[in-house]
Amino acid sequence: MEPRAARGELPACACCGEPAVVYQPVTRRYLCGTHLVRDVEERVRATIQETGQISPGDRIAVGLSGGKDSTALLVLLSRLLPAWPGASLVAVTVDEGIAGYRADTMRAAESLTERFGVEHHIVSFRELIGDDLDTLLTGRETQACTICGILRKKALADAARTAGATVIATGHNLNDEAQSVLMNAFRGDLPRLVRNTGRERSAAFLPRIKPLMAIPEKEIAAYLFIQGHFSVLPECPYTKYALRAEVRTLLSDYEFRHPGTMQHLIESKKMIERYCAGTPVMEPLHRCRECGDPCSGELCQVCRLRHSLGK
Ligand code: SF4
Ligand code: ZN
Repeated sequence: MEPRAARGELPACACCGEPAVVYQPVTRRYLCGTHLVRDVEERVRATIQETGQISPGDRIAVGLSGGKDSTALLVLLSRLLPAWPGASLVAVTVDEGIAGYRADTMRAAESLTERFGVEHHIVSFRELIGDDLDTLLTGRETQACTICGILRKKALADAARTAGATVIATGHNLNDEAQSVLMNAFRGDLPRLVRNTGRERSAAFLPRIKPLMAIPEKEIAAYLFIQGHFSVLPECPYTKYALRAEVRTLLSDYEFRHPGTMQHLIESKKMIERYCAGTPVMEPLHRCRECGDPCSGELCQVCRLRHSLGK
């Protein structure tokens, strides 16, 4: 039978001629649902292998907010993990304490881990620092994402260690990574720019990996939709204060007009990383003099934050 796409209703998949659901501007290919799923899974598997992100026997703590990127990460790792003998998953959700937002995403995270039979740990800012984010931010709303990011990283690392994890996986996608490169370049923050995006091998850290770092946000959403895991969830009320909001708009506009820009930014970052290897730009690690966590100065970001919040 003649494929529907050939009758001009929809563009045809470059692999099979069936109706396409997505266009990849960089490769200039239209793909149907089946081939998009295969393509995404293959690129994630290749990223993990090329950057040595997972080893056999790893216990991987997935940072699961319940949003689309972390949901896709859990779904993808569940499917790909049999390639690494003895590797297993555990999910960690951080409850920052954000009214009108967190409850729905927590429910989504719980139901996903139940469906996939993945052990699920929940940790909260209240346990970590004694207050919800909403309370901590009174009068400091514009610093929401900075404060939230520092505490979330710490809560996730502590919970992952408690759960016996050997590595932490986060759902950062290509858009997130490219935005970070641009933000660090705009700030002139070279040490942060060259921080490795692969598996950090320092003994001081639980390694952090980003298996989705080659996949554009739009393809992650399409992957979830096709797999039946897409749901519309509320947006964090502090998003409007996020520093990256402006960079996101700027970059997505530029990527639309010049496909491949995000990928080029990541490649530039990798090149700079190689040039900086072994130079003073790669900051040496110290131990925080108050809590002993690894950091680049005398005090880690969490301890500095505790002081400024009077905690
Ligand atoms: Fe935290 Fe900002 Fe993300 Fe909200 S938008 S969850 S405050 S980082
Ligand atoms: Zn500290």
